[in-house]
Amino acid sequence: MKQYLIRLDDACPTMDVERWQRMECLLDKYGIRPMVGIIPANADPKQKIDTEDSIFWQNALQWQEKGWAIALHGFDHCYISSDAGMNPLWTRSEFAGVSLAEQKRKIRDGVAILKSHRLEPKYFFAPSHTFDNNTLIALKEDSDIRIISDTIATKPYKQGDFIFVPQIGGHCVNMLLPGVYTFCFHPNTMNDDAFNALESFIQKHKEEFFGFDELDLNGVKRKSMKDKVISWLYFTQRKLRGIK
Ligand SMILES: [Zn+2]
Repeated sequence: MKQYLIRLDDACPTMDVERWQRMECLLDKYGIRPMVGIIPANADPKQKIDTEDSIFWQNALQWQEKGWAIALHGFDHCYISSDAGMNPLWTRSEFAGVSLAEQKRKIRDGVAILKSHRLEPKYFFAPSHTFDNNTLIALKEDSDIRIISDTIATKPYKQGDFIFVPQIGGHCVNMLLPGVYTFCFHPNTMNDDAFNALESFIQKHKEEFFGFDELDLNGVKRKSMKDKVISWLYFTQRKLRGIK
């Protein structure tokens, strides 16, 4: 069986409201409930697109009430390290290589901001996908979050205290192997073609889309040998192609 999931990155009060509304309408039309990654205290100039939206937090609460999965997406979204961490997609990070004390502060303050708006994040993913073991320690000690949306694999797996729901690709692709696949989108930078491509994929594969709360994460096992090989191949070909 194949299960497709949608993740939306970089929600914050200065996001591109029009594009985000377009995405919300599109997903509502097909009854798809995505994960949305919210930046609690954005300071990244690239995410300052519109002027601050005074009803952003109300809208975010409506997402939660509609059953969207709420994820903590970093703290301020600023890269302060050139470490790649345990999911080395890029050599830049808000978390990987940063001291545990600083990471704990980011997690604690980020969760507190979301909670002050009555949002209950159950998931975490880092800007540029980069985090390290201290990020996991910080999440464990300073939050209730035990699910990470990231890493390369074909299905969720358990590692220590955490469940990882893998995330592959920035657009929809029909996958050949059975598994659970999260496609991530950045509504802030999507053009007409990207919206149209997403919609036509959903039309063809509507039955294969699920909400994160529909995943059966009970009894998830450790990463399989097959997934270890797939992950190794993925990062090796990326290295060979010189992508950092
Ligand atoms: Zn981001």
